[in-house]
Amino acid sequence: MRLVLLGPPGVGKGTQAARLGLRFGVPHVSTGEMFREALSQKTPLGMEAQKYMDAGKLVPDDITIGLVRERLSRPGVSSGFILDGFPRNLVQARALEDVLRDLGAALDAAVSIEAGTETVVRRLSGRRQCRRCGAVYHVEFNPPSEPGRCPKCGGELYQRDDDREETVRERLRVYMAETEPVIEFYRQRGLLVSVDGERDIDEVTQSIISALKEGNAVEESVSDGDS
Ligand code: ADP
Ligand code: AMP
Repeated sequence: MRLVLLGPPGVGKGTQAARLGLRFGVPHVSTGEMFREALSQKTPLGMEAQKYMDAGKLVPDDITIGLVRERLSRPGVSSGFILDGFPRNLVQARALEDVLRDLGAALDAAVSIEAGTETVVRRLSGRRQCRRCGAVYHVEFNPPSEPGRCPKCGGELYQRDDDREETVRERLRVYMAETEPVIEFYRQRGLLVSVDGERDIDEVTQSIISALKEGNAVEESVSDGDS
């Protein structure tokens, strides 16, 4: 299973990618997480990426594409991946085609998760992430059992710097200008699957799996049951 998840910041790509990764037994590959990890380890890549992330801009294509090419060439992704946060513009979308062609692989689908600006702003402002294991929660929609503590590993939950209001506005602008055209790119290739992201987390997972089945990207034997 090789999927790309598309949609505005805060729509639920990371949340759904983690669930779909478990369901299909393939890794969740998030470029945003790769940059955040590099930053927490203070590597040169992390320090360079931080300048763009803090400003709500895209990290330059040469850096991001190189990172994805390397990640998708590792053995752990030979049976598939759920790619979240990449591609974010048309240059990256074409580069992904090249990377996959070189690997002799192809995408099964590009899933566009759709929700309005009001919804994504609410989701971003309440998002909390674990510093240790990276799990994502929401203070209202997916609250941890103990505020500020990760139920999975006990790590500290924090609010991402780029979820501040001014940065969110810029990220949404960048999304509309640069990333939205990627949806049309995949529509033209017959790979696009669109789902309503306004519904709750379980319902969105179910609609993605159902939509993939309708498009024959998933074997009927994969259960529609609990996620
Ligand atoms: P993205 O990866 O697209 O930026 P996330 O998966 O991090 O988005 O989700 C953003 C926030 O919204 C998180 O706090 C997450 O818990 C919450 N969330 C995700 N999906 C839903 C949903 N369907 N309904 C309500 N809250 C959601
Ligand atoms: P995300 O975790 O997907 O919300 O990404 C957080 C930030 O990382 C973005 O706002 C960008 O600054 C950077 N980033 C993540 N993925 C990409 C990408 N594909 N291209 C460029 N920048 C990216």
